[in-house]
Amino acid sequence: MKSIVCGIDLGTTNSVIAFLRDGYAEAIAVEDGTAILPSVVSFEAGDCSYWVGQRAKNRRAAFPEATISSVKRLMGKDTTITACQRSFTPEDISSYILKHLAERASEHLGERIEKVVVTVPAYFDDAQRRATIRAGELAGLDVVRIVNEPTAAALVYDHVQSDAGEESPYVMVYDLGGGTFDVSILEIRGEIKEVLASSGDTSLGGDDFDERLKDYLLKELVKQAGLESIEEDVRLRVRLLDIAERAKIALSDRPYVKVQEAAVAMVGGRPLNLDIELSRDTFQSLTEDLIDRTMRKVEEVLKEANIDSDDIGKIILVGGATRMPAVIEALSVLFHESVEHSVDPDLCVALGAAIQAGLITGESVGQILLDVTAHSLGVKTLDMVDPETNKPDYFSTIIRRNTRIPVSRAEVYRTIVDRQRGVDVEVFQGESFSCLENTLVGSFFYDLKPAPAYSPVVVEFAYDREGLVRICVDQKGYDNRKEVTLDIRNRKVEDVPERKAAETPVNYVAEKAGRLVRDNRLSENLRQVIRQVLASYEEAIRAGENEDRVEEIEDRLLEIMEQAEEELELSE
Ligand code: ADP
Ligand code: MG
Repeated sequence: MKSIVCGIDLGTTNSVIAFLRDGYAEAIAVEDGTAILPSVVSFEAGDCSYWVGQRAKNRRAAFPEATISSVKRLMGKDTTITACQRSFTPEDISSYILKHLAERASEHLGERIEKVVVTVPAYFDDAQRRATIRAGELAGLDVVRIVNEPTAAALVYDHVQSDAGEESPYVMVYDLGGGTFDVSILEIRGEIKEVLASSGDTSLGGDDFDERLKDYLLKELVKQAGLESIEEDVRLRVRLLDIAERAKIALSDRPYVKVQEAAVAMVGGRPLNLDIELSRDTFQSLTEDLIDRTMRKVEEVLKEANIDSDDIGKIILVGGATRMPAVIEALSVLFHESVEHSVDPDLCVALGAAIQAGLITGESVGQILLDVTAHSLGVKTLDMVDPETNKPDYFSTIIRRNTRIPVSRAEVYRTIVDRQRGVDVEVFQGESFSCLENTLVGSFFYDLKPAPAYSPVVVEFAYDREGLVRICVDQKGYDNRKEVTLDIRNRKVEDVPERKAAETPVNYVAEKAGRLVRDNRLSENLRQVIRQVLASYEEAIRAGENEDRVEEIEDRLLEIMEQAEEELELSE
C-alpha cells in the first residue's frame, strides 16, 4: 500500500495539516473538532513537558514566560529561546508543532505519517527553508518538498469549480495572517505556477488589529472605572489581547458585539469589569490605516510585476484576517470588482500542500468538495438604506457566495423616515448589485416601533446545512425582534404569511434629499446645493430623460447627501 503524504501549513499564528483521499483534499481536525492549531508551545516548569495548540495558547495569560508563540519569525536565525530553564532553538519549537500535527493525523488516518510537504512564505531565504526541513527531521518526519505558500494556495484554486470563462494567467494571492502580510503575483501556465513578484510586511497582521482594539478597550476600562490610568502588566495585556481578538473575529460576522468580561483587572483589591458594546464602524476606524498599508503593498507589487490591476484574473484570499469585511471592501474598490473567498482562507494553504503531496505520489486530484453557499444571500435596501451606498434597489449581501456553512452573519441598515411604520424585508439570492437581476427567495413585513429616521435595524441570517435560513430582524434598542425561517431550496417563508412587496411610488432619494434641504442644522450653503441638484433631478425624472442621465444626477445628489450626513454627524 502506498503511504500517505500529508501537507502542512506551518504558520506563524496557526498551523494546519491536510491530506488527499480519493482525489479530495481534506484538512484534519486536530483538536476539539477544529483543523486550526495555534502555533503555540507552552512548557511546564517542573519536568519541561509541553503543550501544543489551544491549550498552550490558553496558558499564555497565566504563564507568559513559559509560553512561546510566533516562533516562525525566528526560523533560520542563530538564536535560542529560554523556557523552563532550558534553551531551545527555533527548529526545536517548530518540531514540536510538526510532531503534534503528524501524530494527530496518524491517529485520524490509522497509519503512521512519515512524509510531509511543508509550506513556507515566498520570501523565505535558503537558511529559513533549511531550518524548516531541519524542524521536520527533528520531529521524525521526512520533508519531501518545501512549497511556497502562494503557490500552494494557487494549486487549490485549480481544483475549485470556477464559473469564469476565458481567464488571464495572472493571479494575485493576498495573504493576511496573524503577524505577517504577503502579497504575490503568480503567472499560471497549465501546471506551472511561477511567482512573478512578491512583497509584504513581516510586521503587519491580525495581531496589529488586536493591539489597536486592546488599547481602545484599556481606555474604556479606565474610563468606566473612573480612574486616571491602570498599569498594563503582562497579564492584563494578554487578557485584553485575547478579548480584543475574540471581539474582532465576532465583528467580521456582525455589526455590533457586546464585550462583557468580569474581573479583567484588580485595582486596590477591587475587580474591574468590562462591559461595552463595540461596533464594526468603531473597529474599522481604529484600524483603517492598517488596511491601507496592505493596499499600498498591493499597488507596489503590481508595479513590480508590471501588471495592471485589470489584468489580474483572480484574487485569492488567504489567511484568517482576510475574513474582515474591510479587507474585501478595500480590494473590491481597488480592483473595481467584487472580491470574495472561494476556499476557506484558513485551510487553503494546507490543502494546497496536500495536493502537492498527492501530485508527488502520483495520486489523481479531483474537485475539492466544500460545504459552502452556492449563491450570495442578502436583502434589498429599498425602504432601508445601505449606509455604504445610500442606493435603493441595491442588493446588499449578508452572506457571501462560497461561505462555509453553517454560518450566521448580520448587517446593520438604517430607516429612512421619522416614525417609519415598517420595512419590507425582501430576501434575494444572486450575484448582481441590482435586485432585479437576482432571485427573490422570500419576503415579509417587519413592523417598526416609532423611531427617528436613520435608526439602526440589524438583520441577521443564520444558514444551516439543510438550506434553512433563520432570519432575525432587530430594531436596535427597541426590544422589537422578529424571527422567521426561510426554506431557500423550496423558497418558502414559514410562520409568516408570504406578502408581496408593496408597490412603492415614493422616491426615497428625493424624499430624503427634501428632508436635508429642510434640516437647519446643515449649513445654508450645502442646503442650497442640495436644493438645486434635487430640482434638476426631479425635473429630469419628470421630463422622462434617459436613464443614464437620471442616474448621473442621482449619483451627484447622493454624493452631496453623504456630505450632509457627515456634517450632521459632526454636529451631534
Ligand atoms: P498565520 O498565517 O500567521 O499562521 P492565520 O492565517 O491563521 O495566520 O491568521 C490568523 C489571524 O487571523 C489572527 O490574527 C486571527 O485573529 C485572524 N482571524 C481569524 N479568523 C478571523 C475572523 N473571522 N475575522 C478576523 N480575523 C480573523
Ligand atoms: Mg499563513
